[in-house]
Amino acid sequence: MRYHAPASFEDASRIAASATGVTRFLAGGTDVLVQLRAGMVIPDDLIDLKKIPGVSDIVKNGDGGWTIGVAVPGIRLGADSALVADWPGVVEGMELVGSTQVQGRATLTGNLCNGSPAADSVPGLVAAGATVSVTGPEGSRTIPVEEIPTGPGKTSLKPGEVATAINLPPRGEHGGDAYLRFIPRTEMDIAVVGCAVNLKLDGDTITEARVVLGAVAPTVVLVPEAAAAIVGTTLDDAALAALDAAARAACNPISDKRGTVEFRIDVAGVLARRAARIAYDRAKGAKA
Ligand SMILES: Cc1cc2nc3c(=O)[nH]c(=O)nc-3n(C[C@H](O)[C@H](O)[C@H](O)COP(=O)(O)OP(=O)(O)OC[C@H]3O[C@@H](n4cnc5c(N)ncnc54)[C@H](O)[C@@H]3O)c2cc1C
Repeated sequence: MRYHAPASFEDASRIAASATGVTRFLAGGTDVLVQLRAGMVIPDDLIDLKKIPGVSDIVKNGDGGWTIGVAVPGIRLGADSALVADWPGVVEGMELVGSTQVQGRATLTGNLCNGSPAADSVPGLVAAGATVSVTGPEGSRTIPVEEIPTGPGKTSLKPGEVATAINLPPRGEHGGDAYLRFIPRTEMDIAVVGCAVNLKLDGDTITEARVVLGAVAPTVVLVPEAAAAIVGTTLDDAALAALDAAARAACNPISDKRGTVEFRIDVAGVLARRAARIAYDRAKGAKA
């Protein structure tokens, strides 16, 4: 195995583009190193991104949006009170990843690029409308987070492409988001279902929403029908029932040891209701 520690994303991309065997980028390593030690994936080229300037930075931009470096661990997100105030749902998704030890290393970017349909931070990012900056042999581009995962363990990143940052839009006024997951244990488990809701209010009325489900399909699912069920409402009982139905209808899960198809579909509706309620209350000023 060849270990590389490039000083720029361009160099990281060049190394990855010219590699012919199995290549992995090393962010926190909580997926890569576990797979390596278990002998599941032994990279020929391991490209450590942590020596690249800026990768550990959390930056609030002039327009109110956020740029989060690809090596920022979950624990730093939770410690940033301004970020938590703007995007509590994004942060709580990442904070559910693993244990205190895992939190000290695991990153949003690694969680996304690992390609797990159950990745806990991804629904919140998609609900927020986050984008990913990418550099590759053909230059740089910015893509919506939902376009990165294409199936279990798979992404749309082309050979030689490396994610360079996660971008969150400006929070703006009267908005709130939330992420909930169901796991059989109280912690350290993989989501059976996850749901993120992000919404904006005008007075008591929802004017915009994004509803995203995790672990109920090969990738996270953005559900416009679920958003449509609550936009224009005050999240009354009828709206919550319509949201529940739309979330259930969007599910295409598998049965496994954590839950059956039927159970996952039921839980998706329940979590959508609960996450929407929390997001709504946060948009009204409730603190995370
Ligand atoms: C004990 C334990 C518990 C866990 N619990 C959870 C959990 O509850 N929920 C959950 O979602 N996950 C969980 N995980 C999985 C893991 O911690 C997360 O997926 C984590 O966010 C991965 O981030 P990382 O920085 O460690 O990624 P890494 O292991 O460094 O990388 C992961 C993947 O992303 C790719 N990658 C990394 N950076 C880039 C980049 N900049 N550009 C392109 N590709 C890149 C790598 O090539 C690799 O394929 C757990 C893991 C462990 C070991």
